Amino acid sequence: MQAKGYKIINFSIGEPDFRTPDNVKRKTISAVKNNLTKYTQVAGTLELRGAIAQKLKRDNKLDYLPSEIVVSNGAKHSLYNAMLATINPGDEVIIPSPYWVTYPYQVRLCGGKPVFVETGNGFIPAADVMRKKITKRTKIIIINTPNNPTGAVYPEKALKGIADLAIENNITIISDEIYEKIIYNGRHRSIAATSRQAKEHTITINGLSKSHSMTGYRMGYAACPAHIASAMARIQSHTTSSISSITQYAAIEALNDKTNSVAKMRETFRRRRDLVVREMSDIPQLEAVRPDGAFYIFPSITKVLKKENANGTVASKSEMFAERLLERANVAVVPGAPFGSDSNIRISYAVPEESIIEGMRRIRRFLK
Ligand code: PLP
Repeated sequence: MQAKGYKIINFSIGEPDFRTPDNVKRKTISAVKNNLTKYTQVAGTLELRGAIAQKLKRDNKLDYLPSEIVVSNGAKHSLYNAMLATINPGDEVIIPSPYWVTYPYQVRLCGGKPVFVETGNGFIPAADVMRKKITKRTKIIIINTPNNPTGAVYPEKALKGIADLAIENNITIISDEIYEKIIYNGRHRSIAATSRQAKEHTITINGLSKSHSMTGYRMGYAACPAHIASAMARIQSHTTSSISSITQYAAIEALNDKTNSVAKMRETFRRRRDLVVREMSDIPQLEAVRPDGAFYIFPSITKVLKKENANGTVASKSEMFAERLLERANVAVVPGAPFGSDSNIRISYAVPEESIIEGMRRIRRFLK
């Protein structure tokens, strides 16, 4: 549609719309100029893993050795390596729903079985609801806070409950913390930091894609017990080898960043979050929980669907909604169905404020 000249407001974007910080870009260029362009250790250079260890200590109160850290091609690759290293065919993996679309696919690629757990109002997973889904085959619980697609941030109590459940049942937690820096109230809490035993049961996943607007650099990492890290590194050794050497040198600069670029991005996202919430409160057909993190809001379209009285011939209600919204109002959103909730849509506010105002105006008019 854009190619045909339509002016689309794009609320479907999954990456920050900011430039990568200048100091990181300079370091990237100097890595090439200094011929740092060869293979490195598979799990990442010692210097980079040292910088990650320092970051985990500083920001997350977690002590890891470089041998407990593996750097991969983005958090997505770290997640997949973590699953390949831990899931045996037939193993069950608990995933709170709504979830990031990729988790169930990766679980299935490893021969595992995704087991979804509803989170209900507020989108916070509860340990007692998860407990009912635990069987002898439960191997992993995946959590994601701040969350994509809901923007929910799990409170400490929920994290402790999940950690206790995992410890009690000898389950490994995969904690995807890629949106750690985009959080609007207080500081991020890592589930691994809730206790020594929790750390022993957790694979913490993070990276630079969202925090430093470095999605194209492809840098993610996992921090976990050494035996899992070693298995992940061996898998990576025989599949992709190390990530780009150039990215690794730039990543050290980002991790040690003393500029306030991350804080600036967060403040811009906060203003946009407040604007989206304000604008949406003026659209009675949409009901949304105020997001505390990431750059998404996940409103319910239930009221619209009731009116529409969508019949059984429609494969997905949220897809139908998104398609009509695009065709009639030229606003792109992501349907909730692939995230596990067909009665929601995902709106990304990684766009300028003018686009938020215009997009919301179009949605309001469309729904009227
Ligand atoms: N985890 C979540 C929850 C995400 O939303 C994303 C990207 O959208 C990723 C992981 C992947 O991050 P990366 O680009 O570092 O692979």
